[in-house]
Amino acid sequence: MDSDIREEVYKCSKCGLCQSVCPIYLATKNEMLLARGRYIILNNFYNYNKKLSSKFIKNLDLCLNCNLCKNFCPSNIDAREIFTFLKYQNNYKYSFLPFSIIFFLILLTYKIRKKNILVKREINQSRNIKQGNILYFQGCINKYVNPSDKNAALNILDKLGYNVVKISSLCCGLPYLSDGNLKSFQHNSTKIIDSVPSDIKYIVCSCDSCYETLKRIPELTKRLIRLDDILKLNNFELTSKASFVYHKPLIRNDECYLPKEIKILNKKGCCSLMENFLLLKHRKFANQLMNNFAYKKDDIENKTIITSCLLSKFGLEYLIKKMKLNTNVYSYAEYAEISESIEKQCL
Ligand code: SF4
Ligand code: SF4
Repeated sequence: MDSDIREEVYKCSKCGLCQSVCPIYLATKNEMLLARGRYIILNNFYNYNKKLSSKFIKNLDLCLNCNLCKNFCPSNIDAREIFTFLKYQNNYKYSFLPFSIIFFLILLTYKIRKKNILVKREINQSRNIKQGNILYFQGCINKYVNPSDKNAALNILDKLGYNVVKISSLCCGLPYLSDGNLKSFQHNSTKIIDSVPSDIKYIVCSCDSCYETLKRIPELTKRLIRLDDILKLNNFELTSKASFVYHKPLIRNDECYLPKEIKILNKKGCCSLMENFLLLKHRKFANQLMNNFAYKKDDIENKTIITSCLLSKFGLEYLIKKMKLNTNVYSYAEYAEISESIEKQCL
């Protein structure tokens, strides 16, 4: 793996194209927080046996792991894989506790605060099951904080005629990757693989972050699908209102299935402060970046923001509270559930 990384970083031509897309660089103008700057240091390290400073390793955690630089890079260098491996190799630890533990503690705190909004799933007794067996992967945010997304997703899948034979309550493993804890990520991935029944047609995710993480487990990729892709497969026309806007998560490359009338918020004004859990792990730094990341008041006031990532929902709710705006945030499943066209087409 070490030699692979050496070869990868050697491919950097220093063209600087990553400057135009890296959200952290755009906000800080700090070359040392850009993929190119990090690769220059790594090349020195490999060529001259220089020591990687603890600051360099610590700063890896200020990368959002969005991989926008890879998508734009002529050499297709995978920053996310390289930085995660370097954290693992150098035994990076966030603070005194592994971040994965802190993440679950934070979610538990939110659960206690939000327990009054827990929503019970309405079971559709007259289910018309014709589309095959599926597993629904709920992820930790649904499990601990935002169960209304899960309930909405399950209701939609019921209505579409899918037979949800299992709801996975396992973590996708993203907090382990954020820690550079590849051993725990592997262990968790094995548990997920073992938990998937063999007769499953799809593994459905309603959160883009879970989906992108599970995509890194080769045994799952063939059957992995997002909720909006399922709706697209079934040709559902979703409704829109003038106040609806879509927040595209940084980690999502392709389009989300939505009516074309729904405006996509400007990507550069993105507030995906939850990528790599920046807002939870490095709150001061995240708040410093807020002016660059955050949407402007006029873009989102009195709007309903739809987002296909539950971590983004978390970050957007934080932003809206901070800006004291009258704005709602719906997950994609919550939006789809209230969309009248689904009701009509399923009659
Ligand atoms: S775009 Fe790729 S090749 Fe160009 S400087 Fe950035 S990392 Fe290097
Ligand atoms: S992964 Fe994202 S934040 Fe990290 S260097 Fe690349 S573009 Fe910048």
